[in-house]
Amino acid sequence: MADRSFLSWPFFEDRHRDHAERLEAWCAQNLPVAHDDVDQACRQIVAALGRDGWLQPTAIDPAAPGPLDVRTLCLTRETLARHDGLADFAFAMQGLGTGAISLFGTPQQREWLEKTRRGAAISAFALSEPRSGSDVANMDMSATRDGDDYVLSGEKTWISNGGIADVYTVFARTGEAPGAKGISCFVVPADTPGLAIAERIEVVAPHPLARLSFNDVRVPASAMIGKPGDGFRIAMSVLDVFRSTVGAAALGFARRALDESLARAGGRELFGAPLFDLQMVQGHLADMALDIDAAALLVYRAAWTKDSGAPRVTREAAMAKLYATDRAQEVIDKAVQLHGGDGVRRGHIVESLYREIRALRIYEGASDVQKIIIARQIAT
Ligand SMILES: Cc1cc2nc3c(=O)[nH]c(=O)nc-3n(C[C@H](O)[C@H](O)[C@H](O)COP(=O)(O)OP(=O)(O)OC[C@H]3O[C@@H](n4cnc5c(N)ncnc54)[C@H](O)[C@@H]3O)c2cc1C
Repeated sequence: MADRSFLSWPFFEDRHRDHAERLEAWCAQNLPVAHDDVDQACRQIVAALGRDGWLQPTAIDPAAPGPLDVRTLCLTRETLARHDGLADFAFAMQGLGTGAISLFGTPQQREWLEKTRRGAAISAFALSEPRSGSDVANMDMSATRDGDDYVLSGEKTWISNGGIADVYTVFARTGEAPGAKGISCFVVPADTPGLAIAERIEVVAPHPLARLSFNDVRVPASAMIGKPGDGFRIAMSVLDVFRSTVGAAALGFARRALDESLARAGGRELFGAPLFDLQMVQGHLADMALDIDAAALLVYRAAWTKDSGAPRVTREAAMAKLYATDRAQEVIDKAVQLHGGDGVRRGHIVESLYREIRALRIYEGASDVQKIIIARQIAT
């Protein structure tokens, strides 16, 4: 059983503790699901999470809009990640894909949230392009005004849920100014003519991922979220909320790796005694526990700060994401080592954690980019 002592930290309220305990029980009953067909698995997970109410925190309630509860988002991701990486992914994307609508959408755009919160629609966040991943402000995709419409042309790549999403929030250049100030954000239903899946992308920890092509995709001007030129600011505001939750997912993976390692160290006999009795093994386990607690403090500090009303948590969220994902990689690597050959056996839980963690240090701002963000924040 994973360490639950952090739930008594003052960052949380009773409703968070209750949420975490109920979700834990749900996960034990419903996860993991078979991953043979990731598209099908994701649809199944979204439907189950939606049916039982777990997707409600991913977006604001359109009937009673209020702030997103980042602590609940983090606790949910941590818990799901500990049980099934694909379940964490499916939950996270419902939030990231609709974040711009939650934060800045019109009542008409927010009608999507009623569907995504009950698992009746799947959402995606389309920011990255072949030439502009880290260098977001350099994007090429254009959105040109034509009467009452905008016409979108170009490509997006690395889009999670690409291929299974019902709705995309898409960032494109409208050209009010060069660079970051000339980008706008649009709600684009997946069945809009001209929007196609150009390529399905396979990665080390499989999940639905695609390159999208936009060939004169026509949307009404009312599909724009915010004002012309607001797109970059909107994207950064969404990442400000969801970046800490990437750290929370890493924390879930790391906790699972420690749990598996403790069980292994207690159950495996070597040199006439449990593996745990070797002091160097104890040293590894202690390092893992320390990394996990330090990461948890940073993740829940960022979440609590945002929930306490801070307009931006750029520094806190960058620290949480950077530290939690980098340390989780170390923790999981130690778990693989402690498992010996089983650690690299295909299908073993620590082998899958080893694959799952890697992309978290790249997406939503690579670790190197987080360091630059932190340095700029502490210098101001
Ligand atoms: C599994 C997965 C899922 C993804 N899902 C989505 C999604 O749903 N929506 C979406 O829009 N995008 C998504 N992405 C894209 C992701 O955000 C980009 O891959 C990421 O921003 C890096 O961009 P890039 O791949 O073009 O690498 P590049 O921008 O070419 O960067 C390569 C490397 O250069 C280094 N680097 C970059 N900038 C700096 C810097 N300023 N200083 C120092 N070093 C630097 C980093 O080590 C970085 O990893 C996903 C990516 C992956 C792998």
